[in-house]
Amino acid sequence: MAEPRVPGGDEDDVELPCGRTLPVSTFDMGMREFDCPCGDTHAVVMDVHPPDRFLPEFLVAILRESVETTSEEMPEFGTPHLMGIVLEEFPGDVASIDVSDRGDVGYALLWVTDFDSRRLHEIVVELVVELMEHAVSHADDDAVVQNFESEMLEFDVAEFVTQYREERDFDAENAHV
Ligand SMILES: [Zn+2]
Repeated sequence: MAEPRVPGGDEDDVELPCGRTLPVSTFDMGMREFDCPCGDTHAVVMDVHPPDRFLPEFLVAILRESVETTSEEMPEFGTPHLMGIVLEEFPGDVASIDVSDRGDVGYALLWVTDFDSRRLHEIVVELVVELMEHAVSHADDDAVVQNFESEMLEFDVAEFVTQYREERDFDAENAHV
Protein backbone atom coordinates (compact mmCIF):
# COMPACT_ATOMS: atom_id res chain seq x y z
CA MET A 1 0.00 0.00 0.00
CA ALA A 2 1.35 3.41 -0.99
CA GLU A 3 2.08 5.88 1.74
CA PRO A 4 -0.34 8.80 1.53
CA ARG A 5 1.55 12.00 1.04
CA VAL A 6 0.33 15.00 2.94
CA PRO A 7 1.74 18.24 1.53
CA GLY A 8 3.25 20.22 4.36
CA GLY A 9 1.85 17.77 6.88
CA ASP A 10 0.25 20.60 8.82
CA GLU A 11 -3.07 20.07 10.48
CA ASP A 12 -5.88 22.19 9.08
CA ASP A 13 -8.30 23.61 11.56
CA VAL A 14 -11.97 24.27 11.03
CA GLU A 15 -13.56 27.16 12.83
CA LEU A 16 -17.11 26.06 13.55
CA PRO A 17 -20.07 28.48 13.51
CA CYS A 18 -20.37 28.02 17.29
CA GLY A 19 -16.85 29.39 17.76
CA ARG A 20 -14.99 26.15 18.50
CA THR A 21 -11.93 25.37 16.41
CA LEU A 22 -11.20 21.72 15.68
CA PRO A 23 -8.74 19.85 13.46
CA VAL A 24 -10.12 18.60 10.13
CA SER A 25 -9.25 15.02 11.11
CA THR A 26 -12.06 15.22 13.71
CA PHE A 27 -14.48 14.72 10.82
CA ASP A 28 -14.42 11.41 9.00
CA MET A 29 -16.28 10.40 5.86
CA GLY A 30 -18.98 8.38 7.60
CA MET A 31 -19.99 11.29 9.80
CA ARG A 32 -23.34 12.99 9.27
CA GLU A 33 -23.56 14.75 12.62
CA PHE A 34 -21.09 15.84 15.24
CA ASP A 35 -21.69 16.11 18.98
CA CYS A 36 -19.70 19.24 19.63
CA PRO A 37 -17.99 20.11 22.92
CA CYS A 38 -20.15 23.28 22.84
CA GLY A 39 -23.13 21.06 23.70
CA ASP A 40 -24.87 21.33 20.31
CA THR A 41 -25.10 18.78 17.55
CA HIS A 42 -23.88 20.08 14.19
CA ALA A 43 -24.62 18.63 10.77
CA VAL A 44 -21.52 17.44 8.89
CA VAL A 45 -21.49 17.27 5.09
CA MET A 46 -18.72 16.33 2.67
CA ASP A 47 -18.49 16.62 -1.11
CA VAL A 48 -18.33 12.81 -1.27
CA HIS A 49 -21.85 12.52 0.19
CA PRO A 50 -24.30 11.98 -2.68
CA PRO A 51 -27.11 14.57 -3.01
CA ASP A 52 -29.64 11.79 -2.41
CA ARG A 53 -28.71 12.11 1.24
CA PHE A 54 -31.24 14.95 1.11
CA LEU A 55 -33.27 14.57 -2.06
CA PRO A 56 -34.89 11.68 -3.95
CA GLU A 57 -33.12 10.59 -7.13
CA PHE A 58 -35.79 11.98 -9.47
CA LEU A 59 -35.40 15.45 -7.98
CA VAL A 60 -31.62 15.27 -8.27
CA ALA A 61 -32.11 14.29 -11.93
CA ILE A 62 -34.38 17.32 -12.52
CA LEU A 63 -31.85 19.62 -10.89
CA ARG A 64 -29.05 18.20 -13.00
CA GLU A 65 -31.15 18.90 -16.09
CA SER A 66 -32.36 22.36 -15.15
CA VAL A 67 -29.74 24.08 -13.03
CA GLU A 68 -26.87 25.64 -14.88
CA THR A 69 -23.66 25.27 -12.98
CA THR A 70 -20.89 27.75 -13.55
CA SER A 71 -18.11 25.68 -12.05
CA GLU A 72 -15.80 23.88 -14.43
CA GLU A 73 -14.51 21.65 -11.66
CA MET A 74 -18.01 20.55 -10.69
CA PRO A 75 -20.11 20.73 -13.85
CA GLU A 76 -22.78 18.38 -12.51
CA PHE A 77 -25.25 19.57 -9.90
CA GLY A 78 -24.44 17.85 -6.65
CA THR A 79 -23.87 18.17 -2.94
CA PRO A 80 -21.41 21.12 -3.25
CA HIS A 81 -24.09 23.11 -5.08
CA LEU A 82 -26.71 22.28 -2.46
CA MET A 83 -24.35 23.43 0.28
CA GLY A 84 -23.51 26.53 -1.77
CA ILE A 85 -27.20 27.47 -1.71
CA VAL A 86 -27.38 26.88 2.06
CA LEU A 87 -24.21 28.92 2.61
CA GLU A 88 -25.64 31.80 0.59
CA GLU A 89 -28.82 31.82 2.67
CA PHE A 90 -27.19 31.23 6.08
CA PRO A 91 -23.65 32.59 5.79
CA GLY A 92 -23.13 32.82 9.56
CA ASP A 93 -24.31 29.29 10.26
CA VAL A 94 -22.09 27.29 7.92
CA ALA A 95 -18.35 26.68 8.16
CA SER A 96 -16.74 25.38 4.99
CA ILE A 97 -13.20 24.33 4.30
CA ASP A 98 -11.37 23.17 1.18
CA VAL A 99 -8.99 20.34 2.02
CA SER A 100 -8.43 19.14 -1.54
CA ASP A 101 -4.67 19.42 -1.02
CA ARG A 102 -4.81 16.79 1.70
CA GLY A 103 -4.66 13.17 0.69
CA ASP A 104 -5.53 11.58 3.99
CA VAL A 105 -9.12 12.52 4.82
CA GLY A 106 -10.94 11.09 1.80
CA TYR A 107 -12.91 14.23 0.95
CA ALA A 108 -12.08 17.58 -0.62
CA LEU A 109 -14.74 19.84 0.84
CA LEU A 110 -16.23 19.89 4.31
CA TRP A 111 -19.18 21.82 5.71
CA VAL A 112 -20.23 21.97 9.35
CA THR A 113 -23.43 23.81 10.18
CA ASP A 114 -24.65 25.39 13.38
CA PHE A 115 -27.90 23.42 13.13
CA ASP A 116 -28.27 19.64 13.31
CA SER A 117 -28.63 17.23 10.41
CA ARG A 118 -32.42 17.13 10.46
CA ARG A 119 -32.75 20.92 10.42
CA LEU A 120 -30.19 21.11 7.61
CA HIS A 121 -32.23 18.55 5.68
CA GLU A 122 -35.36 20.71 6.01
CA ILE A 123 -33.45 23.81 4.93
CA VAL A 124 -32.04 22.03 1.85
CA VAL A 125 -35.52 20.84 0.81
CA GLU A 126 -37.06 24.31 1.41
CA LEU A 127 -34.36 26.01 -0.66
CA VAL A 128 -34.66 23.47 -3.49
CA VAL A 129 -38.45 23.93 -3.57
CA GLU A 130 -37.88 27.71 -3.83
CA LEU A 131 -35.36 27.17 -6.60
CA MET A 132 -37.85 25.05 -8.52
CA GLU A 133 -40.70 27.51 -7.93
CA HIS A 134 -38.50 30.20 -9.37
CA ALA A 135 -37.70 28.06 -12.40
CA VAL A 136 -41.33 27.09 -12.95
CA SER A 137 -42.55 30.69 -12.60
CA HIS A 138 -40.55 31.45 -15.74
CA ALA A 139 -42.36 28.76 -17.70
CA ASP A 140 -44.59 30.08 -20.48
CA ASP A 141 -47.28 27.52 -19.87
CA ASP A 142 -49.76 28.79 -17.24
CA ALA A 143 -51.09 25.27 -16.69
CA VAL A 144 -47.62 24.07 -15.72
CA VAL A 145 -47.25 26.91 -13.23
CA GLN A 146 -50.68 26.35 -11.67
CA ASN A 147 -50.22 22.64 -11.48
CA PHE A 148 -46.87 23.01 -9.73
CA GLU A 149 -48.21 25.63 -7.32
CA SER A 150 -51.20 23.52 -6.30
CA GLU A 151 -48.96 20.52 -5.73
CA MET A 152 -46.61 22.61 -3.64
CA LEU A 153 -49.49 23.84 -1.47
CA GLU A 154 -49.94 20.29 -0.29
CA PHE A 155 -46.24 19.62 0.09
CA ASP A 156 -45.19 19.46 3.73
CA VAL A 157 -41.43 19.85 4.07
CA ALA A 158 -41.21 18.56 7.66
CA GLU A 159 -43.31 15.51 6.82
CA PHE A 160 -41.28 14.79 3.70
CA VAL A 161 -38.02 15.01 5.65
CA THR A 162 -39.28 12.70 8.42
CA GLN A 163 -40.40 10.09 5.91
CA TYR A 164 -37.27 10.37 3.81
CA ARG A 165 -34.98 10.00 6.81
CA GLU A 166 -36.92 6.97 8.07
CA GLU A 167 -36.65 5.31 4.67
CA ARG A 168 -32.96 6.09 4.39
CA ASP A 169 -32.31 4.67 7.87
CA PHE A 170 -34.25 1.57 6.92
CA ASP A 171 -32.18 1.14 3.72
CA ALA A 172 -28.96 1.69 5.64
CA GLU A 173 -29.91 -0.98 8.17
CA ASN A 174 -30.79 -3.45 5.44
CA ALA A 175 -27.55 -2.75 3.64
CA HIS A 176 -25.69 -3.48 6.82
CA VAL A 177 -24.98 -7.15 6.21
ZN1 LIG B 1 -20.23 23.54 18.48
